[in-house]
Amino acid sequence: MLQHFFNPSSVAVVGASQNPAKIGHDILNNIVRYGYGGAVYPINPRAQEILGHKAYPDLATVPSKIDLAVVAVPAPAVMDVLEQCGKNGVDSVIVITAGFKETGPEGARLEERLATQAREFGIRILGPNCLGVIDTASALNASFAAGMPLGGHIGFFSQSGAMCVAILDWALGENVGFSRFVSLGNKMDISETEIMLSMGQDENTRVILGYLESIEDGPRFMKAAHHVSKTKPIIIIKSGTTSAGAKAASSHTGALAGSEHAYRAAFKQSGIIHAESMQALFGYAIAFANQSLPEGPSLAIITNSGGPGILAADASDRSSLHLTPIRKETADRLREFLPPTASLYNPIDIIGDASHERYEKTLKVILKDQLIHAVLILLTPTAAVDAESVAREIAGLAKDADKPIVTAFMGEKRVRGARKIFQDHAIPTYDYPEDAVAALNAMLRYRQWLEKPEKQYRRFEANTGKVRKVFASVIKQHRHDLIESEARQILKAYGFRLPENRIARTTREAVATASEIGYPVVMKIASPDVLHKSDMGGVRVGLENEAMVEDAFFEITSNIQLRQPRARILGVMVQEMIQRGREVILGITRDIQFGPMIMFGLGGIYVEVLKDVAFRIAPLSVEEADAMIRDIRSFPLLRGVRGEAPADIEGILDGLLRLSQMAIDFPEIIEADINPLLVCPEGQGAVAVDARITIHE
Ligand code: ADP
Ligand code: MG
Repeated sequence: MLQHFFNPSSVAVVGASQNPAKIGHDILNNIVRYGYGGAVYPINPRAQEILGHKAYPDLATVPSKIDLAVVAVPAPAVMDVLEQCGKNGVDSVIVITAGFKETGPEGARLEERLATQAREFGIRILGPNCLGVIDTASALNASFAAGMPLGGHIGFFSQSGAMCVAILDWALGENVGFSRFVSLGNKMDISETEIMLSMGQDENTRVILGYLESIEDGPRFMKAAHHVSKTKPIIIIKSGTTSAGAKAASSHTGALAGSEHAYRAAFKQSGIIHAESMQALFGYAIAFANQSLPEGPSLAIITNSGGPGILAADASDRSSLHLTPIRKETADRLREFLPPTASLYNPIDIIGDASHERYEKTLKVILKDQLIHAVLILLTPTAAVDAESVAREIAGLAKDADKPIVTAFMGEKRVRGARKIFQDHAIPTYDYPEDAVAALNAMLRYRQWLEKPEKQYRRFEANTGKVRKVFASVIKQHRHDLIESEARQILKAYGFRLPENRIARTTREAVATASEIGYPVVMKIASPDVLHKSDMGGVRVGLENEAMVEDAFFEITSNIQLRQPRARILGVMVQEMIQRGREVILGITRDIQFGPMIMFGLGGIYVEVLKDVAFRIAPLSVEEADAMIRDIRSFPLLRGVRGEAPADIEGILDGLLRLSQMAIDFPEIIEADINPLLVCPEGQGAVAVDARITIHE
C-alpha cells in the first residue's frame, strides 16, 4: 500500500532549489544527504545541477520513470505540476506547498480543483500543506524536517507538521528509533486511515503513533483501527473538539454528548490506546517499542525509598494493574540477603543504603517469580548508591527477562547518566513513577484487548414497518418531535416493556382506568406541548386510591393551565406504577464523524449535573453494552448497596442493544431518550416509562 511514498526507486523534487533559504533546497538536501539509494531528479527550469544531481526543466524531460514526486512550488503552480505528473505517469505525489484549505475559502476551492484533477489522473496525494515523509528503512527523508531519526520500529503520523518536528527532535535527543514519519497535512486525499493501514502492513513498524485533530470517515477509521490493532498497538493523541452536529437541545442525551465522547468511545471500541498528553504519548511509545507485553496484571515494585514506592502503589491502584503480595518462596529468597529493615511486601523497599548489588540480587529473584508479570524499578539517588551502576545491572538482566521492566530514577543531575544507559539499552525510563505505571497499564490494557474474543452482536425482531409509518405521519405533519403516544409505539415495535397506560379525559374516566390497571398508579399530563412534565407539575406518582386519583387529575390539569396556558391538553395519562425500579437513562445521539452513539447513565433529574454517563458508537456488541454499564462511577448503586437487591443488569443490557439496533435501522432518528428506564430487581426486567424521540427527514 502506498509503496511509492515510502520505498520509491526514484524521486523527483519539483521546485528543488540551489538557494538554501528555500524549502525546495531543504527537501532535496534531506533526500541526498541521508543516503537514499534510488534515483534523484531535481526539477528546476533555471538550474543545470543542484547538490550534485543533474537538474531537469520539467518532469517530461526526465529520462526514466518517476515513482514519487515531491512538490514545493508556489500554490498557484501546483495544478500545473500535477498535470505534468499525470502526463508522465507519476502516481504518487507529496504536496508540501501550503496555501490551500487552511487559508480560507479561496484556498479551499483551489484544493478542491487539485483533488478533482488528481482523481482524474489516478494520482495519490499526500498533503497539501505537509512536512513530507521519512522512511528509515529506505533511508528516504522526503521532508523539510531538520534531521533524520535512527532506524527503529515506531511509525508516526501527524496532522500537524509542527508536531512532527517536535517528535523528531525528541527522537533524536533520546535516541529513539523510528520506522516512518508521515505528515498528513490537509488530508485532501490520503487520510489517517490509509496511513494506519499501510503502517499495519509495514514490517519495520511495530508500534503506530498518531497525532490527530480530526478524523475523516469515522466508521472506516474504526474498522481499520480495529483490524490493525489486533496485530500492532496504535497509540493516538487527539486534540481539538468539534461540535457534535445538529442536535435538538431538548434531549438529555444531546446535551451530554460531544465529539470528545465520540472519539473516546471510538478509540475504546477499536482498540486504540488513547494518550491523554504528549508526555503519555512518548512514555507509551518507548514502552511498547522496547518491552514485551505483560502476561497478566501482577506488578512488582522495587524501590530504595518509601515515598516514591507509595506514589507508584497509588498509581497502580487506580489502574488495571495489581500489586499482589510477594509469595512466601520469593520473600524467603529475598530475606537471605536483604537487611531486616527491608520491606518484603509489595512495593519491595530495599531501603536507603541499597547499593547496585542489592538492586541486582533483588531483581534477579523477582524476575524468576512466574506470578509476577511486570517490574517497576524506582531509585532515589542516595549517597549509598551509584545510579549508573544500578542502570548497568538492570540492563544486563533485562536482556533475557521474560517480563517487561520499566524504570523511574528520580532527580536529575545524579541520575542523568543512568537514564542515558537505559536509553542505550532500550529500557523505558521515566522521570516519575506515575508515568511508568501509566505505561505499564497501557501495555496491560492492550494485552487484554488482544485477548478479547470476537465481538458478538444480538439481533432482535422489530416491527420496522410500524416505525416507518409513525415517522412518515410525523414528517407529514411537519414535526420533528414525536409525541408521547408515538414514542411509545416506536419502543413497543422494538420490544421494550412499557407500563400499561391510558389517557383519561375526565376524573370519572381516570378513576375507572386506575381501578382497571390496579393501584398504585402514576398520572401524567398528556400534552404534545409539555416537554418536561414534572417540571410543570404534570406528574403524580404513588396514587393509592380513588380520592388520590381525583385530586391528582385536578391538580395536574390546573398546574398546566396555570404554568403553560397555551399547551394543548389531551387529558391525563393513567399509568401502571413500576415499583422498586431504579432510574437509568438510555439515549441515542449522532456524531458528525462517527454516526449514531448510544448513551447510558443513572437517570432522574440529576443526570445533567452529575454527567455520570457512558457513550459507545453503535452498533453495540454485547460485550460493549455490558462494559458501558460498568463504566459509570455509580455502577455500584446498581449492583446494590447496604442490603439492597441488585438491579436487573440484563434488563439494561437488553435495552441498550435494542436501542442500538434502532439507531442503526433508522438513521432518521437524530436523538432519543428513554428517561427513565425503570430497572427492577434482578430477574424482573426493566420498563421504559418515559421517552422522547426526535427525527429529521
Ligand atoms: P418527565 O421526565 O417528563 O418529567 P416522567 O414520565 O419521566 O416525566 O416522570 C417523572 C418521574 O416520575 C420519573 O423520573 C419517575 O421517577 C417517576 N415515574 C414516572 N412514571 C412512572 C411509573 N410508571 N412508575 C414509577 N415511577 C414513575
Ligand atoms: Mg422523564
